Amino acid sequence: MKPYHARAFQRALVFALLALQTSCSPVKESLQGQAEPSQATKDSYFLTEIDGKVPATDSAAAGTAIATGRKTDAGNISWKAGDPDNGKLETIAETLRREQGFALGIASTVPFSHATPAAFTAHNTSRNNAWDIAHEILFTTAPEVVIGGGYANKYFATALHDQQGSSTDRDQNGFNDDFDSFRNGTHATNYHYVERRKGQDGGKVLLEAAAGVQLDNGDKLFALFGTPAGNFSYYDVQDTPGAPQLKQKEMEDPTLAEVTTATLKLLSQDPDGFFVMFEQGDIDWSNHANDYQKMIGGVYDLHQAVLSAEASIDSNRNGMSWQNTLVIVTSDHANSYLQSHTVLGKGDLPLQQGEPKQFTYPDGDITYATTGHTNQLVTVAARGAGSGLFEEYAGQWYPGTRSIDNTHLHAIMLQAAREHGARHIILFIGDGMHLEHERAASRYLYGKDDALAWRGWGDRSNGWSGYAATWDIDTYNRYAAQVGQPGFEQDAFNPTLGYNPQSGGAVP
Ligand SMILES: [Zn+2]
Repeated sequence: MKPYHARAFQRALVFALLALQTSCSPVKESLQGQAEPSQATKDSYFLTEIDGKVPATDSAAAGTAIATGRKTDAGNISWKAGDPDNGKLETIAETLRREQGFALGIASTVPFSHATPAAFTAHNTSRNNAWDIAHEILFTTAPEVVIGGGYANKYFATALHDQQGSSTDRDQNGFNDDFDSFRNGTHATNYHYVERRKGQDGGKVLLEAAAGVQLDNGDKLFALFGTPAGNFSYYDVQDTPGAPQLKQKEMEDPTLAEVTTATLKLLSQDPDGFFVMFEQGDIDWSNHANDYQKMIGGVYDLHQAVLSAEASIDSNRNGMSWQNTLVIVTSDHANSYLQSHTVLGKGDLPLQQGEPKQFTYPDGDITYATTGHTNQLVTVAARGAGSGLFEEYAGQWYPGTRSIDNTHLHAIMLQAAREHGARHIILFIGDGMHLEHERAASRYLYGKDDALAWRGWGDRSNGWSGYAATWDIDTYNRYAAQVGQPGFEQDAFNPTLGYNPQSGGAVP
């Protein structure tokens, strides 16, 4: 927790600045949620480059904000802004293990050492130090469950140098020695290691491996899947109006739903509780490619995973219930500025032509405005123990809105565990996902706007839904410089410089 005086000071500053802005702004209604800024205002706010870049966080800084409650610079993995020595920030996972004895898990459809899972289980001044991050995850933090891509990939298997530039491939076989040690059984850790097997169903391979892991013996699970690109196989999504058809292309990778079921079953062996972060990471990769079809597959994969988590909790096996479990579904940042201009029906895809990053949609049903991230709000949905906390944080930085800041997620998860009986914290991150992507997938799957697993949680007595601002310090400083304001200081900043609802809107 931040010291009280710092919070009070910060809040006073926020209110003073908001009052100032509100009094001289022509669109002050937006803060009361009455009038949204025009589309042109939003376009210009989100898409105008400042100092050569559209202001928006990356996954490393956004993951750090969620994992540690601290804003940092782009690229930092749970490390303080400015990269000071001793800049390590303790993550929510580490805190809950230290304080509550929680078991820990990270699972991702992109490499396990990629920015988002890394932010919860590693510390580094750069997300690109792949060997160091993977090594820290597996040999220092050593979460009870690590599942992800990285097989035959530079984020793990073929990361041949550490941060200092020393070779990590002393036998020069093209794979780093850590990877070799897992494959040949000389790793000397408590991990049960399993990897993608040719011709075998990845979901079954994973479940079988998980079944052999006894947490009370100190056993852990490390499961490595994925294509050489690093991510789990994408889905094939067919344009079949009326009858959606989606299928993962390669059976050797598990689905995120299979990953979720196996992980929850395993982690719930720990009577103290657990924290787990599940990332659907190829939503972001598809958005960078402006690939609508693959994006639909990624959101579907996340939707199915959230449904399987709900089913695990509803089953009342595994010791999980909605009284002792908090599930959160959110995104770390928006990406691609997708806009739908036609309401597509169930099973209906827009005509998509061309190549990744240069796809065209000649019928004009949809448009993308960028292949990069944007500073748009993302959605947040929560269900279960401690979900009432969200209402306390909503509007705190952005009065009159249903928005929290991404750093508040850290505070809420911690308070839920400490004060509201949340013994199981399950965090789903749809990387690079914006409300437009959620709607697009919902329309494709159900012919309705809000039918994904988490969209109705706000209507439940033990649920909440709203939005989150995602800006990092780089984003803040770009916007601040543009209006001649000082850069971000930990104890003195104006949240509306990081995200301004008057320009970007009170809703995504
Ligand atoms: Zn990205």
